Amino acid sequence: MTDTPRVKGAWCARIITLFPEAFPGTLGLSLTGKALMEGLWALETIDLRPFGEGKHRNVDDNPSGGGAGMVLRADVVGRALDQAAIGTPLERTKWPVIFMSPRGKPLTQEMAQRYSQADGMTILCGRFEGVDERVMEHYGIEEVSIGDFVLTGGEIAASVLIDATVRLIPRVLGNQASTEEESFSDGLLEHPQYTRPTTWNGRSIPEILLSGHHAKIATWRRTMAERLTKERRPDLWRAFCAKHRRDPGEDQEL
Ligand code: SAH
Repeated sequence: MTDTPRVKGAWCARIITLFPEAFPGTLGLSLTGKALMEGLWALETIDLRPFGEGKHRNVDDNPSGGGAGMVLRADVVGRALDQAAIGTPLERTKWPVIFMSPRGKPLTQEMAQRYSQADGMTILCGRFEGVDERVMEHYGIEEVSIGDFVLTGGEIAASVLIDATVRLIPRVLGNQASTEEESFSDGLLEHPQYTRPTTWNGRSIPEILLSGHHAKIATWRRTMAERLTKERRPDLWRAFCAKHRRDPGEDQEL
């Protein structure tokens, strides 16, 4: 990838991967791309290949105990992590080190908020059957999953984590208020959104949104957010009600 300018002290994603060309990928587009060019955040890739063994720079080997697939070697990944200078556990509160893994902690908005307040993060992308377990043990690396499904590699998962984090960095979105109101910020899904034309295929925008009555619009949006969350994500709704001491069975009147 080409070097991007970096504002002093800007948040930085340092990615260890067999496929550096996967970055910035979609992170180089639109708002995250513009912010990257402006140096509001930075991206560094560390190619795993040169740390490989022998003439062919082998990075993987057969799984101990047999079975299909290959496993990334501990010594190879260890050398890359040492070059990435991952620091002491204390330093890692300001610069977490993460292994993307389906066995990791499921990514949430709250985690993205926390990561966006760090100075940066180092992300290890797995391939094949994953990485030798001793690497995670030795370095005490945090494992993060982007959902209960299996991808072929950690690069797309890393992009998801970086996107969710970078958009919370001040000035990246331009309009900071939008991150405060959107889905999950208050533990609720977002209300429905509309824009012109006012009528489309016989469907009209809810009248209240055209009324200019800000207080009523805010109440409508809140009610819709609660209703949607209750219908679609009973798990989130129960957690929201517990936090706000509300009755989860309560009906939202409009
Ligand atoms: N054998 C492993 C899956 C390996 S998939 C298992 O069953 O757990 C190869 C790599 O893709 C992983 O090492 C990880 O870096 C990445 N990956 C796959 N699914 C992922 C997910 N849901 N979240 C984050 N990373 C994932």
